[in-house]
Amino acid sequence: MKRIYLDYAATTPTRPEVVKAMSSYFSEAFGNPSSIHSHGQEAKGAIEEARTKVADLIGARDEEIVFTSGGTEADNFALKGVAFANESKGNHIITSSIEHHAVMETYKFLERRGFRTTYLPVDEYGLIDPDNVRKAITDKTILISVMHANNEVGTIEPIAKIGKIAKEAGIYFHTDAVQTVGHIPVDVDELGVDLLSMSAHKLYGPKGVGALYIRKGTKLVPFMHGGEQERRRRASTENVPGIVGFSKAAELAQQEMSGEEKRLTCLRDQLIKGLLERIDHVRLNGHPIMRLPNNVNVSVDYVEGESMVLNLDLEGICVSTGSACSSSSLEPSHVLLAMGLSHEQAHGSLRFSIGKWTTEEEIEQVLDVLPRIITKLRAMSPLLKSYR
Ligand code: PLP
Repeated sequence: MKRIYLDYAATTPTRPEVVKAMSSYFSEAFGNPSSIHSHGQEAKGAIEEARTKVADLIGARDEEIVFTSGGTEADNFALKGVAFANESKGNHIITSSIEHHAVMETYKFLERRGFRTTYLPVDEYGLIDPDNVRKAITDKTILISVMHANNEVGTIEPIAKIGKIAKEAGIYFHTDAVQTVGHIPVDVDELGVDLLSMSAHKLYGPKGVGALYIRKGTKLVPFMHGGEQERRRRASTENVPGIVGFSKAAELAQQEMSGEEKRLTCLRDQLIKGLLERIDHVRLNGHPIMRLPNNVNVSVDYVEGESMVLNLDLEGICVSTGSACSSSSLEPSHVLLAMGLSHEQAHGSLRFSIGKWTTEEEIEQVLDVLPRIITKLRAMSPLLKSYR
């Protein structure tokens, strides 16, 4: 059976060009970038070249990029780094109620260390109102973190507007751009952010590598203590093949972005239209327009998301119920609940995320298979019986 992969927001396959670029850094150019001999300097050169490419993708300067082990580390580094370095100025921090667990759990950790959080509400589309950010700021606020686009429902947040508010108030502003970098244009100056998290495996690079953009002059404590790597901001011998792979993926993403954005938007809209037409009692989650080109999230009444995922899997179609990190838990999505969905609606959600190898035929196949699955599941559903 030919498998149809529609879970690109969970992770993407590493592109062959990326694997090729990485390969010589395992056993040929394997030097430690901190070594002063030629092997080491070759690896160091590769990292600095990679830094330029990643910086280029987001309009940053080379020295503002610190490589990390992924998006989660970049989020932890940004939030703990700024909070602990600036706690003498205040203990109030702001974030949204729909952040990825990498941000949510870090905020909870900071709360246990004495920080006080304001969680910004979202509207029915998952959008944050910049005015609510303005209203939440106090003279004790030292940090705001709002994600660029939501990983579950694809809503793109008004980051540039929030950036302006943060700048006027002189407060550090972080955005988790793990789902947007390499997919839609990201420019740190246009967004007005001081810190921005990225992850390579969401843009056809390898897993276990990412980066944090840190605007020059931002005060934050180092995340890892040890050697002097990454200008003393992140100790540990660099993941040279991973960093090279990340930069190759970044370079390719930059070259192909505008064409790919248009192609995926068409496929996304074909899928949304088909789902709304062919299935009754279904609603689109997330913003109809301000959404990622690769995301479709729906709630289907009277069926469980997990049942749909497992039944689709039997037909060779891979999707998820929400974020990859929480889809194994039975808790309803905090994102959907924050958007005002009921527990039942949140449990009946399905996320399709399309990508580089998605075709029109694959979308048609999903539109053919899913309505049949839903009819079958609804026929057995106690939820539907109680409704009738
Ligand atoms: N932030 C967002 C919005 C994500 O979607 C993810 C991954 O799903 C992460 C952070 C974590 O990234 P990583 O898997 O590289 O740690």
